Order: sequence, then structure tokens, then C-alpha cells
Amino acid sequence: MKSPLPEYLKHVLTQCKQDSGQTAQYIPELASANPDHLGVALCTIDGDMYAAGDTEVEFAIESISKAFVYAIALEDRGFDGVAKKVGVEPSGDPFNQLSLDPKTGRPDNPLINAGAITTHTLVNGKTPQDRYDRVADVLSRCAGRKLRVMEDVYSSEMKTADRNRALAYMLHMTGIIEGDPMAAVEYYTRQCSLAVTAKDLAVMTATLANRGRQPVTKEQIFSPDVMVRVQSVMLTCGMYDYAGDWVTAVGIPSKSGVGGGIIGSLPGQVGIATFSPQLEEHGNSYRGIKIFEHMSDKMGLHLLKVV
Ligand code: GLN
Repeated sequence: MKSPLPEYLKHVLTQCKQDSGQTAQYIPELASANPDHLGVALCTIDGDMYAAGDTEVEFAIESISKAFVYAIALEDRGFDGVAKKVGVEPSGDPFNQLSLDPKTGRPDNPLINAGAITTHTLVNGKTPQDRYDRVADVLSRCAGRKLRVMEDVYSSEMKTADRNRALAYMLHMTGIIEGDPMAAVEYYTRQCSLAVTAKDLAVMTATLANRGRQPVTKEQIFSPDVMVRVQSVMLTCGMYDYAGDWVTAVGIPSKSGVGGGIIGSLPGQVGIATFSPQLEEHGNSYRGIKIFEHMSDKMGLHLLKVV
């Protein structure tokens, strides 16, 4: 029987295409992104892809990379090694807030900038370049193709990265990150500037949903326990200070990026990715949220919903 999914995905896009919000204004290159792009892609844990709209247009992965780099750090340093440096508590703050635990000095979680700069430095590698190369390699293996850096996004973001520089110096001062804090910001920003499409993100997310096994290449990239941890933190912290609204309305472990992407992982089922660069006030894709709300409601995807 032919799947009704492709038709449904087209329908969702027509339902969720009303304009609202703005492209990311604090990074000039992202500010000038085409605000009309809109796409949705689903990849099942068997590797079947369903997509509608602009799902082959490249955009910067931005903060969505943080979920994957947290996974790499957990693989490389173990749960305890990472827990010494980064917590798992929702901060309730915007993504670029410092949010350090007053007792331990740790960033609240790995999905805010302070936590993500930290996890980037925990990836195995002798030099900052080695660490970055490992990040780019693992993310590429999750996507099933070699991801490239969008150099114009990278240089644009570096021009306005003072807040991240301040975070990195602070983290260095408290001993949370070791080595050169400016190198950490440079390579973290390169990580955020990797180009992906919605289809890439759907496969990458299906890797999370599939207990760490890439559904197309069948490579076991992460261990199942690491995936449980990563998706738990995505559920509570993936949408920053919108997390409570998200969990109640959508109920899917997720991560957003200011490039306009949102990923959602339904463990054991499917990886979902949306793309629309118009952002709401928390830096999440406005139309992406609408698409997820629609799909969660109509397809009964909320994790806590018994269907
Ligand atoms: N690279 C961006 C930053 O550090 C990522 C922010 C995001 O996508 N929310 O500000």
C-alpha cells in the first residue's frame, strides 16, 4: 500500500507556512538568509526518507550540532568525565546566557552555548584542529556524506562572537575548559557553520532514534546508553527557555539552531527535521515549531501519549 505520508507532509507545509519572526539578526550572514525556505523531512530507523519542500537546501547546522557533540564527548570521556564539566539541568535561560552552577561552576547543560563550548573541548584530539576534525568526521558519518563548512557563515559569526569569547574566558578562568579559550570558540564556531540540509538532519536524527546506528550505512556510531542520555537532555533543554512549552505541546526530544533547523527524535521510530529560517524570540524556528506541533497532534507523536 502506498504511504499517505508524502501527501500529509505537503499538507503540513501548507498549514504552517504563515510568516512570523525574523532570520537570526545577530549573525549578518544568517540575517540575509532567504526567509521563505520551508521544508520537512522524516527518516525512519529503517532508513526510509519522506520529505516535502526545501529539504535539499543547505543551511548552517548551528546549535543542532550541540546534541551530537555532547554524544561524542560522552563517548570519549565517559558519563562521569563529562558530568564533572557540564550538568544536565534546564537553565530556563536564553541560549547565550552564562548559566553556571554556583557550587560547581559547571554550565547547566550541554545545549546552551557555555555547555557546548565545553563539550567541544572534551572531544578526543591532541590539538584543537584534531578535535574539530573528529567532530566534523562524526557528524558527516551521521549524515552519510561529508559535510563542509559554510565559510561565509563562519567568518560572519566570528565577527560577532564576543559573547561566546566572554563565555569561553569565564569557563577557562573557572577551570572548566583547558587549553586556549579562543581556539575553543573558533572551532566551536566552525562546528556550528557546518552545512546541512533537512534531509541530512533527518538521517542524523534517525541515528539518535536508532540507538546510535546510522540507519542507511548501518554504522554503529554511538552506544545506546549515550543515546538515552543525549535524548533525555534534548527533551528537557533542547529548546532553551521554550523547553516547557515544547515538552507540553510537542513532547519529542529536540534541538533547534539559529540557522532555522529543528530536529526531533522519536526513539525506536523516526528522526524528523524541519527547516525555516524565520525565528521566534527564543531563537527557535517559528514555522518549525508549528510543523512539529501539527505533526505531534495529528500523528500522535507525543512521547507521553498512549495511542
Ligand atoms: N553558533 C550560534 C551561537 O553560538 C549557535 C546558537 C544557536 O543556534 N542557538 O550563538
